[in-house]
Amino acid sequence: MNLSFSPRDLGDQAADDLFTPVDPSAFNAVSPPIFQTSLFTYDSYEAMEDVFAGRARNFIYSRGDNPTVREFELLVARLEGAEDGRAFSSGTAAITATILSLVEAGDRVVAVRHLYNDVYRLLVKLLGRLGVTVNFIDPSDHDEVRKALPGARLLYLENPSSFVFELQDIVALSAMAQEAGVTTVIDNSWATPLFQKPILHGVDIVIHAASKYLGGHSDTVAGVVVGTKEAIARINSTSYPYIGAKLSPFEAWLLLRGMRTLRVRLKEHERSGLLLADRLKQHPDIARVRHPAFQDHPGRATLSGYAGLFSFDLTPDIDVARFVNALREIRLGVSWGGPETLVVPAKVALQIPDRMTTFIRFGVSEQTVRFAVGLEEPELLWSDLQQALHAARR
Ligand SMILES: *Cc1c(COP(=O)(O)O)cnc(C)c1O
Repeated sequence: MNLSFSPRDLGDQAADDLFTPVDPSAFNAVSPPIFQTSLFTYDSYEAMEDVFAGRARNFIYSRGDNPTVREFELLVARLEGAEDGRAFSSGTAAITATILSLVEAGDRVVAVRHLYNDVYRLLVKLLGRLGVTVNFIDPSDHDEVRKALPGARLLYLENPSSFVFELQDIVALSAMAQEAGVTTVIDNSWATPLFQKPILHGVDIVIHAASKYLGGHSDTVAGVVVGTKEAIARINSTSYPYIGAKLSPFEAWLLLRGMRTLRVRLKEHERSGLLLADRLKQHPDIARVRHPAFQDHPGRATLSGYAGLFSFDLTPDIDVARFVNALREIRLGVSWGGPETLVVPAKVALQIPDRMTTFIRFGVSEQTVRFAVGLEEPELLWSDLQQALHAARR
């Protein structure tokens, strides 16, 4: 099996490349085989020794490398313009392994203030216990960021950020980090490599919750991190093997299957998302729509499209519980990126650990609802929203 790989800027070719497996594999099958095996064997002592000593390339054990998983890793790396990648059994595992590959006790992390809730808890709770400190910054306050960076180990971004969809100028922020000798890491799950390629804009390491748009079918939880060969080698040698959160070959296959339709799915999520965001913005029962398209911010420049995930605030005249209970087509549920349209009330989702501080940290109100627009007919979704708003008026 040929695993050679040369990074290149895919640019406009990215979408076409989704249909070309990194390794066409045996018999040029259009869909790759699932190597459902935990281990790989050798013909001789010498052959085994060559592989273990790094003189020959072969697979050893699927907690390390597996061909189906490897194909997924290299596909995401190619789409992001990265040299290498490493997949995990969840986005959170990818984030944990990446951060652990970079920080040591006593180090400091600079992170955007509205980041994914479990990453917030990872940084504050787990890494806090291990002697790592965090500065949460307002990413639009570049003076604040410039002051926080010197001496920090990494800058952690999410463009746009969870729940409030706050934009970040990743070109300016990663340039500042580079100047200060700080590694920039971004969670690019929202935009996917089709709508944002952070490495081309100076970011060092890109992470995806592949559970969302990359998989795209609400049937698997997975994560992936891509970057330079050195960055991935560091993860491979310092955290990945010991965390043990490897991706299964079958799930890698589901992700490869999902990614073959990434381009068409995202176009549809974008179209429906913008249509509904625009109508919600004009609706008298909606106080505010938090969608990157409505923000005049330099962080929009690196986005070549908009995903279907955003949030809105209901006016005080609307009862949140009655609104979500009145929805008929749209369902209540966490996660996003699949075919189903879902809502999550901020009041329910963000109550842990402490409701008020969490709300203040997130900049959301008790009237905020996160909205993941799926692949249904948008007019059907609009009718559902309208009737539920009507039913929920106090
Ligand atoms: C879901 C999510 C994650 C975590 O991914 P899991 O696969 O659920 O661990 C990380 N970042 C963002 C922005 C997410 O939405």
